[in-house]
Formats: sequence, structure tokens, C-alpha cells
Amino acid sequence: MAIVPLRRRLDRLERLATELSVSIKVERRMCRDMDWPGLLQLVDEKLEQSEADEALINEILAFVGEAAATPVLEYGNGKNGEPLLDEESQPVFEQHFFVSWLMGLLTGSWSLPEDLPRRFLEGFASRYGTIMWRCEECLSGLGNGVLDKGGPYNACPICNSANLSHKYLGGPPWDPPWVYRASEDVWAAKRPQRMTTKKR
Ligand SMILES: [Zn+2]
Repeated sequence: MAIVPLRRRLDRLERLATELSVSIKVERRMCRDMDWPGLLQLVDEKLEQSEADEALINEILAFVGEAAATPVLEYGNGKNGEPLLDEESQPVFEQHFFVSWLMGLLTGSWSLPEDLPRRFLEGFASRYGTIMWRCEECLSGLGNGVLDKGGPYNACPICNSANLSHKYLGGPPWDPPWVYRASEDVWAAKRPQRMTTKKR
């Protein structure tokens, strides 16, 4: 089985990605200055060089294609399973979280690992999921598709650090899937500031 390049599968997402204006502060950015075609080409190369077997990569890309061909349906507010339409009255399609990961690379939510080992890619090998964790050492965004592949990460599959944060899932407003705030940081910011100074 040949791998159909991502850039061919995802051409029509280009507009969406270029419209993104989310700005996240991450100290070690990797891809924020890249454009969508350049990023897809780079990720394609990394997939080709990956130690992961073609079957796993094709499994992920099949999920990407399946989601991209599935219209989002609307319920409630007088709607009963009708296709959701965008501002130009075009149907909106689902977005697999591997695509969300690509978008998060451009917005600086996480970094692009040097290599894409099998255990990292397993994080995206399910039909539904999200980028649930981030390694706070190498800033890799980690998908929770691993829950279907033998359980969650005990350590970062890229740098082996155990310093993994968890995505903040609270709302409203809910962060889009390509935006990452560590729940630890959100809760720390919510904690009331003490007026007293630290003991010396
Ligand atoms: Zn790491």
C-alpha cells in the first residue's frame, strides 16, 4: 500500500489554516513561521522516514480522510441532524485530531519532533480523539489515540521525560483542539493571589 501524501489529502484545509490567528506563547517554537504547504511537506518527509510501519501510518491517514469526508450535523435549536453550514453556505466537515495537531504546530501550541517514532504516531491512530497531553520538556503534543493502543503515555515518546501536562478541558469557552493550555497552568492562574509576601 502506498502512502498518499498529506498535502494531497489536505489541500482544501489550506484556507482554514491560513485564517488561523490564534497566538499561543510557547518558548521553543518550531513551526510558527512555516506556511501550510511547507509544513505538510515536512511532515510527509518525517512520515516517510519514520520507523513506524506503513500500516499504522495508513491507518492514521485513513482516519484523517474519513473525518474530512464526514459532514458535521447540527442538533438542537430547531435543527435535527441537518448538515452544519459555514458562512458561505458550504457544509462543514469533521476534522481528525491529526489535522488539529498540524494546525497546532502552526499556532505554536506544541513543537514538531525531530523524528516521528511509532509510539508517538500511535497517539493519533484512532477515529476520534484529541491532543490530550504535552511534554513540558520537548513540547511535543501527544494524542490520546494511544488509549486504543496499549494505554496512556507513562513518559514522552520523543524525549522520555515524565513531565507531561494535561490539556485544560474546562469551558465555556472551550479551547479548540489545536489550542493547548496545560490544566496545571489554568488552575494556577485561577488560584487567588495572596497579598502577603513569602516568609524569608
Ligand atoms: Zn518530550
